[in-house]
Amino acid sequence: MLIFKGDKLLVRDVIFEFDDRPKKGKILRSSEDLPPPWREVPAWCEVDEAHVSQGGAEWLDLRAVWQRWGDRAFVYAGTSYQYMNWLRQARFCSNCAAPLVPKEEDRGLLCGECGRTYYAPLHPAIIVAVERDGKLLLAHNSRMPAGRCSVIAGFVEPGESLEQTLAREVMEEVGIEVEDIRYFGSQSWPFPCSLMLGFTARWKDGELHPDGTELDDANWYAPDALPDIPPPLSISRRLIDDFVTRMSQ
Ligand SMILES: [Zn+2]
Repeated sequence: MLIFKGDKLLVRDVIFEFDDRPKKGKILRSSEDLPPPWREVPAWCEVDEAHVSQGGAEWLDLRAVWQRWGDRAFVYAGTSYQYMNWLRQARFCSNCAAPLVPKEEDRGLLCGECGRTYYAPLHPAIIVAVERDGKLLLAHNSRMPAGRCSVIAGFVEPGESLEQTLAREVMEEVGIEVEDIRYFGSQSWPFPCSLMLGFTARWKDGELHPDGTELDDANWYAPDALPDIPPPLSISRRLIDDFVTRMSQ
């Protein structure tokens, strides 16, 4: 069983999954108390903030779990985390304010008053590696550590295709047009409920003008002269590594 407290997971030495639910302390919610479809994801429970773990255990956020145990553990724990996080936020119907109850047929929530059904939200976002003449576009986001640069990303808005989102985000953030958009791969990103859809694209027209709010710097980088980039495992890093590999062939 995965034991969460807030956004952190209980871990001990080499394990992040425990045989039993905690016997002491208050359990706020648990997959074991939900109908069968809810128990088809890795078992989880959420303890309250006063919960004290026994010797040798520590609480890690999902990024740290990822660093320590890799992609499979991140996806495994991230799946349960997204359901747990949604259940603690989606407690009442946004149509009539009555309490929501977990459905028996699937992992949805049902309003007993007005009958409206809710499902766990997923927010798609594009992330794109743009190339120009053997160089890669990397930008510094004002929320990232100083000196750290990454590829362009942004959320899909209603009415948009993924290609339109990509073109809009690149134009808004750095002021250039792109072409030759190709799908690269995707990654679940449970902070709190994103799905990252990765692409590559080529520069078409325009010069770099960072928007000055979200991005305060952007440049074209040769594969042998990259700045500080995101750690391994993220799809942003996979896009950058893919660029470096292709340029070295
Ligand atoms: Zn309702």
